[in-house]
Amino acid sequence: MKLNYSKLPTDFYSEISPTKFEKANLVFWNEGLASEFKNAFSSNEFLSMVRGENSWLKETLAMAYAGHQFGHFNILGDGRAALVDEWKNEEGNLFDVHLKGSGETIYSRRGDGRATLKAMLREAIMSEAIHALGIRTTRTLAVVDTGDFIHRNGMEKGGMLARMASSHLRVGTFEYALFQDDLSKLKALADYTIARHYPQCASLENPYLNLLKEVVRVQIELIVEWMRVGFIHGVMNTDNMSVAGETIDYGPCAFMNVYKANTCFSSIDTQRRYAFANQPGIAQWNLWVFANSLMPLIHENAKVAKEMAIEVIDAFPEQFGKAYYAMMGRKLGVEISTQEGREWVEELLEIMEETQSDYTNSFLFLEGKDAGEVYLSTSTRFENWLSRKNSFPQIEIGNSNPIVIPRNEWVERVLNEAVENNNWKLFNEYQERLQRPYESSSEEDIFSTFNPKNDLSFKTFCGT
Ligand code: AMP
Ligand code: MG
Repeated sequence: MKLNYSKLPTDFYSEISPTKFEKANLVFWNEGLASEFKNAFSSNEFLSMVRGENSWLKETLAMAYAGHQFGHFNILGDGRAALVDEWKNEEGNLFDVHLKGSGETIYSRRGDGRATLKAMLREAIMSEAIHALGIRTTRTLAVVDTGDFIHRNGMEKGGMLARMASSHLRVGTFEYALFQDDLSKLKALADYTIARHYPQCASLENPYLNLLKEVVRVQIELIVEWMRVGFIHGVMNTDNMSVAGETIDYGPCAFMNVYKANTCFSSIDTQRRYAFANQPGIAQWNLWVFANSLMPLIHENAKVAKEMAIEVIDAFPEQFGKAYYAMMGRKLGVEISTQEGREWVEELLEIMEETQSDYTNSFLFLEGKDAGEVYLSTSTRFENWLSRKNSFPQIEIGNSNPIVIPRNEWVERVLNEAVENNNWKLFNEYQERLQRPYESSSEEDIFSTFNPKNDLSFKTFCGT
């Protein structure tokens, strides 16, 4: 049976067969997520297809894309992934069922097409935590232990993940389309994207310029949300940016403990390109790449198209700033709509950095919640800063400040226990706790304890 995605010209994918893992075992199954879809397979059906005892129900594809990786253009594609199904939820929205770590494809280049069990479990923890925090993301449906070993840091257990995404259309998919140098293919992709994600654009005077505006809008919303919870994606290459506005491609991502604007955990990001506070600027850079890919559709006159695209991208900083400071204001319970307000927020961040304060707990402390040890008041500027709070209109904080986030030391410990010691109890308890990030911790809640300084030498690894 055909997939909806294969309506696109054949350049955009190639048919592949996911590896059959005969010895695979299911270690994580997200029944809550599966239950949102009428035509979901059961966990047993899924496992039998992973093992090759039954075949996948539809055609299986690897998607083609390109991307700017650390600023450099490359032709890429699903080198270790496969689209195996598409399901509609109750609202009628289509979602991809996609395997990650499912073996070599024609896009694998020098890679082995595989993933470690630990990295896939890490994605399960992080993506489900991001979802529970109320942030748009691809979801984890399942993780399997493939029952074999792959070569990474020595031999490591192999794993595979099934993720659900509202699509895998990336900025890099558009770069790939532009690279085909055939307007009909670019148009096919843009029309497909509009029909799938932004149908309201279809009837507007310039659908493609409006597609650009929509993608800018959803990316601003997404990055603002990452900044709210201290999330660092870690590898914001254009191939890892979804045009649907979901967090995608969990690799060296991590949550920041102590506030430091240039926090960067990724071992390969030596220039700190994707550091915490660089994320808005990088998003704008990526969106410019997206705009550039759309230009031939925006206007037949290249100069006019460029001017129209520049106008949209140039509006990014102002749009982002408005959304970002409004969000920071909500974290603090005040309305921030003036330059003075923005400076007040910036001063808090300076105080946090100066006092090496924990980002998450500082906001809980300022909200009057139990926050453990917080160092803000060791700054001579703090009292004066705090006294200015009443000069701004007061608003509800709501669920702006999470209590439990996936802290690096816990994520590592839980993963090591599961993968090395076969202790799934801790993994399951941790997953469960992360589903309630805004709920107060009880005294015996071990997951809210941490050493604030533990992050300083912490490193994450990409694509492992
Ligand atoms: P990532 O940075 O993980 O999003 O991946 C960037 C590109 O490298 C994508 O085209 C991936 O499909 C590819 N890739 C990553 N790891 C592997 C692997 N082990 N084997 C083959 N391709 C890979
Ligand atoms: Mg990627």
